[in-house]
Amino acid sequence: MLNFFKTPISIKKWIGIAFLLLIFWLVILACFYAPTLLRSVFLKDFYLDKLEYKQANIYVNPEMNKEERKDIIFLYQQSRLRIDSLFGSTESKPSILVGNRGETMQLFGHSTDEKNTQLQTGMTHLTPFGAYIVLSPSGTNIDVLSHELCHAELMKRVGWQIRRKKIPIWFDEGLAMLVDKRFEYWADLQKDWVKLSELENNNSDSLSSKFSLQNLQTTEQFFTENAQIHYFLAQKEVAYWYNKKQKKGLLELINNLRTTKNSFSENYKLD
Ligand SMILES: [Zn+2]
Repeated sequence: MLNFFKTPISIKKWIGIAFLLLIFWLVILACFYAPTLLRSVFLKDFYLDKLEYKQANIYVNPEMNKEERKDIIFLYQQSRLRIDSLFGSTESKPSILVGNRGETMQLFGHSTDEKNTQLQTGMTHLTPFGAYIVLSPSGTNIDVLSHELCHAELMKRVGWQIRRKKIPIWFDEGLAMLVDKRFEYWADLQKDWVKLSELENNNSDSLSSKFSLQNLQTTEQFFTENAQIHYFLAQKEVAYWYNKKQKKGLLELINNLRTTKNSFSENYKLD
């Protein structure tokens, strides 16, 4: 006799099917919205060669010759010294994707400017699985790599979740600018700032509210058409703070962010 009350597929199986469907849709969504992130995390071995080097996971495009590959390792070692001096040591072991072909690096996250001429120099995908640094040919230098390594190091030390929840973007970028010496040569930016400071004398309210660190908490707020001014402000603030607090203060801040429920501003306080 047929038992109509017995479901042909058990509840457990239904849950399994629903779970697989969910994963399937998440993968489809990720392919659609974040293809460069997905390639950097899961498909880099397919497109790039991994160098035999233990201290970092370095990937290069296959066209790179032996000399260029050696230079990349040397570049990493030099950049790492800057991280060592800022934090006291280097704990992170990010994946570093480097290429001498702009087209290849675009697959992993680089976009061109509006005129479609210049590639972004460097960027880092910060994920729960780790940091994935992507350098374009024009960003393969000690300043850009040190900058990106600093983002990876801060995330490694506080954790992905705490970085995301507690650390304002101005601090993350300001800290990275301490190991990124390009800033000293940003003459145009200096000129812009002088102009803005002059404006400030005339109209202090609007300028200080427009360029306050309070308004630079998220990436959306930071990376606008005024991004260079934001970098400048962030660097100024964090350089001042680090000068006072030094390495010890930075490590204390990181420890407090990890172990207390206090907000960033409570832990950062300048005294
Ligand atoms: Zn940055």
